[in-house]
Amino acid sequence: EEEASKLHIVMLPWLAMGHLLPFFELSKRLALKGFEISFFSTPSNIQRLPSIPQTITPYINFISCSINNITSNIENTVDLRSEAARPLLFQAYATFENHLTALLSDASRPKPDWIIYDYAAASWAPALASRFNVNSVFFCLFNAAAVNFLSHAKDYDSPEKLTTVPDSIPFPTTVAFRPFEARQIYSMLSQKSNQTEPKTHSSQFTLIRTCKEFESKWMDLLGDIYTPVGLLPPSFDKEEESETLTRICEWLDEQKESSVIYVAFGSEAILTRQQIDEIALGLEKSGSPFFWVLRVDSPPQGFEERTVGRGLVWMGWAPQARLLAHRAVGGFLTHGGWNSVVEGLVVGVPMVVLPMVFEQGLNARHLVESGYAVEVARNDEDGSFSGEEIARKLRIVMVEEEGEELRKKARKGKEVFGSEKLQEDYLDELVKKLWEQRKMVAVPV
Ligand code: UDP
Repeated sequence: EEEASKLHIVMLPWLAMGHLLPFFELSKRLALKGFEISFFSTPSNIQRLPSIPQTITPYINFISCSINNITSNIENTVDLRSEAARPLLFQAYATFENHLTALLSDASRPKPDWIIYDYAAASWAPALASRFNVNSVFFCLFNAAAVNFLSHAKDYDSPEKLTTVPDSIPFPTTVAFRPFEARQIYSMLSQKSNQTEPKTHSSQFTLIRTCKEFESKWMDLLGDIYTPVGLLPPSFDKEEESETLTRICEWLDEQKESSVIYVAFGSEAILTRQQIDEIALGLEKSGSPFFWVLRVDSPPQGFEERTVGRGLVWMGWAPQARLLAHRAVGGFLTHGGWNSVVEGLVVGVPMVVLPMVFEQGLNARHLVESGYAVEVARNDEDGSFSGEEIARKLRIVMVEEEGEELRKKARKGKEVFGSEKLQEDYLDELVKKLWEQRKMVAVPV
C-alpha cells in the first residue's frame, strides 16, 4: 500500500457558531501543515465563516449540507437560540450523515484518515467511521475544569450537590455553581442525558481545547486520554475587510488606548428585559466608553440618547475576536463562554464575567481564581444583579487602582496564551499523534 503524503481529515462541528469557530480554527491550522480538510456545515454557516488565506484555500473543502432547504430556512424562521430550534438543528445535523457516507464511499477521492466530530449530537459518527475503517476522534470544546466537574455531575441526585466542589478537585474556593446555576444545570443534565461526553467514543484519544499553561491541575485530573490542542487563538486573514469591521473600527479608532469596554454575551444566551436594563444602567454608570453587541434585542428607551458619543450599541453579528484585539479595547464584559474567554485571554483584556448558562459559572470562578477576571455579584437564589454592581466591577477593571494587578495579569497572560510558539507546540504534538495512530481503527463501544 502506498504511503499517503498528507492526511485527509473530516470535520463535523455542531451548528452553533461557538462550535463552528474552534473547529474552523483547527482546520485552518492543520491545512497550514499540509493536511486536506473536508469541513461539514450548512450553507448559511459556511457563508458566515471568516475568510481564509489564499495559501490554504486548496486544502479546505467545504461540504455544504442541506436537505429540503431545512438549513437555509431555519435562520429566517426561528430564533436559533430558542428551544423550538433544537429539533430543526438536530434534523439538519443528521443530514451530515448522508453526506459523509457519500464521501466515504467515493472511490475517486482519497479516503479520510480521521473524522473529528463534535458533541453527542454526532453520536453516529464513530460507528460510521469504523464501518469504513476510518479513525474518529471526539473534539471536546469545554475546558478541563468543566469536563472534570460535569463528568461528576451526571451522578448527582440533587442540584445542591452541584454547588460544592468535590474533594478530588483542586479548586481553592468551595463554590462551583451558585444555587440558581446549579438548578439550571441539573435540569439540563437530566433532560439531555450527558451530552458533554462522547457517548460512543471509540477513538484512542479525545481532543480538548485547552492548555496546561491555563489549567495544569485540572488537566492532570483528566488523564492521558485527553489530548490538548492548545487554546487555538483565532487567527485572521489580513486581507479580510468587511463592511461591518470597517464601520466598527472607524469608531474604535477614535477612542483612547485601552479605554473601551467590549460587551457581549455570546450567541446562545437569551437575556431578559430586566437583565438588559441593568446592564445598560451599569454601562451608563461606569463612565467608560463601550461597544455593546446586542444582536437581536434592543437597548432600553432613551439609553442611546443618554450615552451618545460614548458608546456604540451594535445590533447584529460583530467580528468579536478581531475587535477584542483592537488597541482601544481595555476590558471585556462577558458571559464567560469558553470561546469568549479564550478570545479575551489571548489578547490580554481583563474581564468582568456575568455568566448566563451551563458551565459559564464555573468558567467565571476559574478566571477569578486565576486572577484574570472579576465576577458580578448576584442574588444566589434567583441570579438577579444590579446595574450598580456591574458599574462597580467595570470601574475596577477599567480605571481604578484596585484593578491594577488584574490588568497586569491579563497583559502577562497574553504573552503566554497568545503565543504562536505555544500553539505550534501543541499542534505539532497533535500532528504527530494523527500520523502515528492513523491506522489503528477502533471499534465503537
Ligand atoms: N461571536 C461573534 N460575534 C457575535 C457573537 C458571538 O464573533 O456577535 C463569537 C464569539 O467571538 C465566540 C462565539 O461567537 O467565538 C461565541 O462562543 P462563546 O463560547 O463565547 O459563547 P456561546 O455562544 O457558546 O454562548
